[in-house]
Amino acid sequence: MTLPYAYDALEPYIDAKTVEIHHSKHHQTYVNKLNEALAKHPALESWSLDDLLTKLHEVPEDIRTAVRNHGGGVWNHNLYFETMRPGQEGNVPTGAVLENITQQWGSFEAFQEQFNTMAATLFGSGWTWLVVTSDAKLEIVNLPLQDCPITQNLTPILVCDIWEHAYYLKVQNRRPEYVDAWWKVINWEVVEEKYTTITSK
Ligand code: MN
Repeated sequence: MTLPYAYDALEPYIDAKTVEIHHSKHHQTYVNKLNEALAKHPALESWSLDDLLTKLHEVPEDIRTAVRNHGGGVWNHNLYFETMRPGQEGNVPTGAVLENITQQWGSFEAFQEQFNTMAATLFGSGWTWLVVTSDAKLEIVNLPLQDCPITQNLTPILVCDIWEHAYYLKVQNRRPEYVDAWWKVINWEVVEEKYTTITSK
């Protein structure tokens, strides 16, 4: 995917070097390795990335782990990059997403606190997700490595990458500082669009 903004667009919250390496090296490597795996099974050419991850159990066994890791890597990073934009203080959701958050957590701040705790306590490399469940509820879930929620029938609308490569250059081991900065660059309009599309189906 092409980034919808320049490498330095998320400064000062997320630095240009991190975004550049994250997108042009890490993300690109997942794309390349997924394509290498798929080249072994031309029959899968007609499958979309969503197909591959939702029907992972039908993917030939010799490349299933590669699709799970690298296909998940591509999908997860696509959502991560897509749901960010140039940052601002006081960046909060509006509309149906805010309504649902307020209903379920009491306030945006209470939701944020739970998300922060989940992100801070995720052990090792993984992702903290905001997903829509099959009964249109919102839920915060942690998943390890590059596991993708759509494989588990959950539909994500927002995600924070908790792999160290997402923040180590700028804040080293201080993960909570990165998560604090990430709140400033969330593109809530895109999150809202996704939520509306999913819940109006
Ligand atoms: Mn990453």
